[in-house]
Amino acid sequence: MPPTNNRPQHEPDNFAPDERPGADTYVYCKGCGTQLESRSRLQKPKVVVDVMMCEPCQQKHGHRLMPTPGSATFCYRCGGAEDIFMEPATTPVTHHLCSRCLPERAARYRAGDFETPLKQPVAEAPAPV
Ligand SMILES: [Zn+2]
Ligand SMILES: [Zn+2]
Repeated sequence: MPPTNNRPQHEPDNFAPDERPGADTYVYCKGCGTQLESRSRLQKPKVVVDVMMCEPCQQKHGHRLMPTPGSATFCYRCGGAEDIFMEPATTPVTHHLCSRCLPERAARYRAGDFETPLKQPVAEAPAPV
């Protein structure tokens, strides 16, 4: 029996590695990109991330996780400014995305393709007759 292929329904985050020395040992403020805290705390199981911004940004935006809609955002993983993509739809969706951490998705969004790519149906061989 092959292992069950439990693919997640949503698109997985295949983050590109951060090449900068030590950069991936921290997480960064969503509001300004400043170093927030050591990432090691977040690698423990069952840690609830309830703060994703520095103190000044929390006060500025009145929230602990995300800047107010319409504000520039920065990547939690690398601190880089995130690109903003507008997905045209009946209800347009705004995507904030770090091109450094998710280059493939950013390229796709830039090309106007907002569909979650279908994975190659590896495990979907025709049923034996
Ligand atoms: Zn901040
Ligand atoms: Zn990033």
